[in-house]
Amino acid sequence: MRIEEELKLDFSDVLIRPKRSTLTSRSEVDVDREYTFLHSRHAYRGVPVVAANMDTVGTFEMANALGAHQLAVALHKYYKEDELIRFFKSLAVDAVVFYSMGITRADYDKFRRVKAAAGTHVRYVCVDVANGYTKTFVDFLRKLRQAYPDITLMAGNVVTGEMTEQLILDGADIVKVGIGPGSVCTTRKMAGVGYPQLSAIIECADAAHGLGGLICSDGGCTSPGDIAKAFGGGADFVMLGGMLAGHDECSDDIIERDGKLMRRFYGMSSRTAMEKYAGGVANYRAAEGKEVLIAPRGTVNITVQEILGGLRSACTYVGARKLKELSKRTTFIRVARQLNEVFGKS
Ligand code: 5GP
Repeated sequence: MRIEEELKLDFSDVLIRPKRSTLTSRSEVDVDREYTFLHSRHAYRGVPVVAANMDTVGTFEMANALGAHQLAVALHKYYKEDELIRFFKSLAVDAVVFYSMGITRADYDKFRRVKAAAGTHVRYVCVDVANGYTKTFVDFLRKLRQAYPDITLMAGNVVTGEMTEQLILDGADIVKVGIGPGSVCTTRKMAGVGYPQLSAIIECADAAHGLGGLICSDGGCTSPGDIAKAFGGGADFVMLGGMLAGHDECSDDIIERDGKLMRRFYGMSSRTAMEKYAGGVANYRAAEGKEVLIAPRGTVNITVQEILGGLRSACTYVGARKLKELSKRTTFIRVARQLNEVFGKS
């Protein structure tokens, strides 16, 4: 056993220090980013915020709504093949929609058939496992990259620099970073495993950028300010689950509780999800996610405006004309208190 003494940080442990700036208005800030991906060599331009590939949030409807604002979506993996083919074929060329998959034989075969039918409409792929540290995962990634040199590949999840490097060397363009920070995740409670998200971002971004790769911070953002901190820490993309949950564009999972209509939101490793898709929780494992009920939040457009407004504001406070400059201009200060909650938490 060994103990690492260095303190690791979460979004709630820091604030961004304001800096002198010549910007006069938030409207001057450009929140688009441009990347050329390391392996696929695709050129990307857009707002690098991605809806998570959870079945509640990563929907076709969400893809259409976010696409209108240049944001991206990782579709959940439970759509049927014909639905996926039809959807991808209908996509505009500049929409950024990730096809998501796990690493089973069935996942790979399904992907091959969808890709064969939808061709270059499927350009972004997210290979997603809870634990990105296994040899099976790395082998799968390598095989996928060899078979499809042209796809832009996001893969994870990991939280440390050395594994980020490994995934990039084995074919990932974007490494998905985050173990345990999610709003409906219980991995830290059930397994005691995890890494504070801001430090994970800082360390993994450093490792990825050194090789010409990118990272996507996945999980733990509870407000536009957290998204700004993720970008400030060096994230190239930020993935959101809970912040996009409860909207009209989410899967239609509405129930009545105490006379009110509520939307269900649950982790993809929760009992709810496993009962829905895997016939229950297998007897050798425990659920590592939970279910919550959310009061309906209307259309996601309002939330998108809040997110973009918050990001522009963060950029203005540090004098960044472009989102690209935010991390260079970010100094985090460690704090013991974040918010004044005298009138509650909202
Ligand atoms: P959020 O934005 O809600 O804080 O985090 C979303 C992320 O939580 C997802 O993209 C995914 O990585 C993670 N996640 C989703 N469901 C589960 C789950 O059941 N268990 C765990 N450990 N993580 C989950």
